[in-house]
Amino acid sequence: MIMDLHNHTTYSYDGSNTPEEIIENAIAHNLDIVGICDHQFSVRERLTEYIRHIRLCRDKYAGRIRVMCGLEIGMRPSPPDLLPSVSDELDYCLFECLDSPRGEDLYEFLEWRRLFKCKAGLAHTDIFSLSARYRLNMLNVLKSYNIFWEINISGNYPYYYDFLTNEEKRRAVAESGITLTIGSDTHWIREYNDSKIKKANALAELLGNPLVFGEGI
Ligand SMILES: [Zn+2]
Repeated sequence: MIMDLHNHTTYSYDGSNTPEEIIENAIAHNLDIVGICDHQFSVRERLTEYIRHIRLCRDKYAGRIRVMCGLEIGMRPSPPDLLPSVSDELDYCLFECLDSPRGEDLYEFLEWRRLFKCKAGLAHTDIFSLSARYRLNMLNVLKSYNIFWEINISGNYPYYYDFLTNEEKRRAVAESGITLTIGSDTHWIREYNDSKIKKANALAELLGNPLVFGEGI
């Protein structure tokens, strides 16, 4: 199963492609699962329209690729409280910027995350730096709060390269049993890096626990 759960469309201020273009690009690269995951702060009051649009795409492309509806939620500052109430209409959320110095407090985030009914994960987050900052083992935290961790291949986040070359960290992730996802963080399909996506998917398989969506979605 090849997944890419982090793609931005024109629903995001920085996305250049429609959902359909993102999905057709994923089909052209033989992906099995593609996730649309636009910025919450861009989608805003169009959230219902956004979810309906991605659901229509899911039906339109059924049998060719599985289309998941996600939302990327910035934790700097913390987003509006109404979000958990729509979470049952989403397949997943990606929370970003928890590792930023201006990010939401981890403990407050963990309490808030409990309100979300969909799958939830951390986008492009250096969990090892969070472990050091809070003096705890983030792998255990993610496991016990049922939060997945994204391997973000965009090249914008150094933790990815460190993870690729650090045997100790990879072993710790494998032993922890946390769930992993892969994200390209695509904003423009002309920059799509197919081989990096496939390599990262292979790594997640090797480490043992890629995210699985239930059948019928
Ligand atoms: Zn993103």
